[in-house]
Amino acid sequence: MFDTLQGRLAATFKNLRGKAKLSDADIDATAREIRIALLEADVNLSVVKEFIAAVKERATGSEVSEALNPSQQIIKIVNEELIRILGGDTRTIRFAKKPPTVIMLAGLQGAGKTTLAGKLAHWLKSEGHSPLLVAADLQRPNAVTQLQVVAQRAGVHGFAPEPGNGVGDPIQVARASMGEAERRLYDVVIVDTAGRLGVDETLMKQAADIKAAVNPDEVLFVVDAMIGQDAVNTAQAFATGVGFDGVVLTKLDGDARGGAALSIARVIGKPIMFASSGEGLKDFDVFHPERMASRILG
Ligand code: GDP
Repeated sequence: MFDTLQGRLAATFKNLRGKAKLSDADIDATAREIRIALLEADVNLSVVKEFIAAVKERATGSEVSEALNPSQQIIKIVNEELIRILGGDTRTIRFAKKPPTVIMLAGLQGAGKTTLAGKLAHWLKSEGHSPLLVAADLQRPNAVTQLQVVAQRAGVHGFAPEPGNGVGDPIQVARASMGEAERRLYDVVIVDTAGRLGVDETLMKQAADIKAAVNPDEVLFVVDAMIGQDAVNTAQAFATGVGFDGVVLTKLDGDARGGAALSIARVIGKPIMFASSGEGLKDFDVFHPERMASRILG
């Protein structure tokens, strides 16, 4: 992912090499090329406009430094603006003062929620926490089994409905898991919820009801970075219908352009907290805006 963007930006910066000073025409031409690079990478149009305006203003403005050559100056500005659209600072889970910390996962079916639940649990365990994975995705027939497999792989406990004990009612399962966590001293509860293929009202209501029932400390919106502008649209629908605190980007190992997913933080105003880049437990990391910007700049 981001190969095209990386290549295009590198070519743009190369054109500036050897120039002692940038004319207004140089800045305009560079801004135009960066604009095309971002649009081709599928970055949201409003984000691109804001980005280009900032680059232009800063490149012509008083901050232009004598210590850097024009190409270095533009790279520095683009780097800082990329970090800004990616949310600025790194932000991960805010743990509750009184455990358990409740993390709820929401998103479309196939976004990678259940896989992510395992990765998150594995990561939390490595950080010294004792997480409980909860299967509140009762929509898909094998979702509960999948979650149990994922929990086992991550080396954590999975909580699923017992036959006759709230089967089919994800809200009751989610609520019951809170008692389980308190009784057995799990300090983090990760609640996996059902997703539909598209945004619909029933899905939103169920997610909102689970949220009301467990009062999560963090709601994470999990989104497939491969789905293009739908990532932004879905994020907007979930932001209104359920509300969330942070974003998890999945499938960053894919060959899609990825720019849409990178626009979510700016469009919705919520940080990207984690990134997933494969099916293995270790293909997961805390999202660092500055590292992602460096990766895009090559
Ligand atoms: P859910 O419906 O949101 O719970 O999605 P799943 O966790 O079941 O994931 C859907 C599919 O995407 C599965 O085949 C996963 O193995 C796959 N998947 C999840 N995360 C990633 C990722 O980061 N990279 C790749 N390549 N595949 C992933």
